[in-house]
Amino acid sequence: MALDYDRKDCFIVEGKLALPYSYFAGRVGSTFITTLRDKKKIMGVKCPVCNKVYLPPRQTCERDLTDIRDNWVEVQPSGEVVNFTVVRYDDKHLPKKAPFVMALIKLDGADTPIVHILDGIAPEEVKIGMKVEAVFSSSPTNTILDISHFAPKKPEKAFVSERKPSGAKGEEPVISEEEKLLKERRKAMSKKVIITAALAGAATMKNQTPSVPYTPQEFAEEAYKCYKAGAAMVHVHAREDNGMPTHDHKRIKDTHDAIKEKCPDIIVNLSSAVGMGKTAEQRISQIVYVKPEMASLNTNTMNFSIIDRKTGKIFIDFVFENTFTMLQDFGKAMEENGVKPEVEVYDLGGLDNWLLISKQGFFTKPYNFNFVWGVAGGMSFRPDMFMVLKNALPEDSNFTTCGVGIEQFPAITMSCLVGGHMRVGLEDNIRVPNGELAKGSYEQVEWAVRIAESLGREPATPDEAREIMGLRKR
Ligand SMILES: [Zn+2]
Repeated sequence: MALDYDRKDCFIVEGKLALPYSYFAGRVGSTFITTLRDKKKIMGVKCPVCNKVYLPPRQTCERDLTDIRDNWVEVQPSGEVVNFTVVRYDDKHLPKKAPFVMALIKLDGADTPIVHILDGIAPEEVKIGMKVEAVFSSSPTNTILDISHFAPKKPEKAFVSERKPSGAKGEEPVISEEEKLLKERRKAMSKKVIITAALAGAATMKNQTPSVPYTPQEFAEEAYKCYKAGAAMVHVHAREDNGMPTHDHKRIKDTHDAIKEKCPDIIVNLSSAVGMGKTAEQRISQIVYVKPEMASLNTNTMNFSIIDRKTGKIFIDFVFENTFTMLQDFGKAMEENGVKPEVEVYDLGGLDNWLLISKQGFFTKPYNFNFVWGVAGGMSFRPDMFMVLKNALPEDSNFTTCGVGIEQFPAITMSCLVGGHMRVGLEDNIRVPNGELAKGSYEQVEWAVRIAESLGREPATPDEAREIMGLRKR
């Protein structure tokens, strides 16, 4: 019996087929993909008649109908945003979790734009015309995603070493233009060192050093002096008038705001440890309330005590609680509120804890770590251990370091030497390297600047620090 497809009662079943398939990318497409994958070069084709450069490459010029398939030209890995959209829904076919930006990007040297992911910038900050550059994937995908994504282009002016290369002329190895640019950019960024001043901590008191700030105004004054001396960031544990560390939302916000009013440029990094004996809720709710640009995120439950260094006598014994759940919940609360976590690493186990929780995928790159030395309950500073920690960091990580007491300056010098950043301040140490009482955290900042300069690095401005650490200015 023949089927009558026009019959009105024909019952239609709606469905979907999953259909894996392979296809030949074509002569032009194959060269484009393999050159991108193997040489990290982005190739377009140029019409010899009208000189138009097509990217993605194609076989025929749409204007002259000329066969242009073998007229390859290399285009730059940088260009500008022609248009963009923010994808705000999740779908398994999308290359990334929402929200993310899909942009039309016209690369330098091409006349047609390509569509790609734009990352490394908040969606609300994307602008048409902004300069972006390709970030290549570290492992091949055999697709256009061998360019992992595009990211805002770093400023080019750069600090190229004035020193001329020595040795015989004309025997320099052949380096491509992109490689040169990449090297210069890396060199420029690695020259910048972010100096943080931890102004007070929870335990340094005025009877030890009168310069430790308690009131919002004192914090503002100290922050400003540190900024003037070269600090890009201050780390803050707010205090009551009597010096007791506080979890009071208003007092912490007043302290934060007083600093920002006196010194709008500087980055404020709030502690999520606050002080001894605070509950998890007290520790994280103030961060969510104030929403600083950055906050500390602690990675392991540990002894955190005060012990006489010479005699081993215990003065204060305290267990600093940081369970996996707290690491997860604090981390999520920070990420959700646009607060960049500074991950505090007191030992290798703490870093491993963070690496485990980071598998959940909610931490955003770049990651920022602080290696903390000399806490009674953590590790003492050892240069070989420093390298173990540094080498265990995931890709796209920054690190800074701080040390308690006499470990402060050796630790930050090591960090500066191997490409990390530096934290000083009265929270960690009340003296300067010559043994005298520091006049304030700012005097330690001055010492840090001298160390950095003697190692060929220069203090980052707050905006440069934001760029390095991936912060959003408030
Ligand atoms: Zn702190």
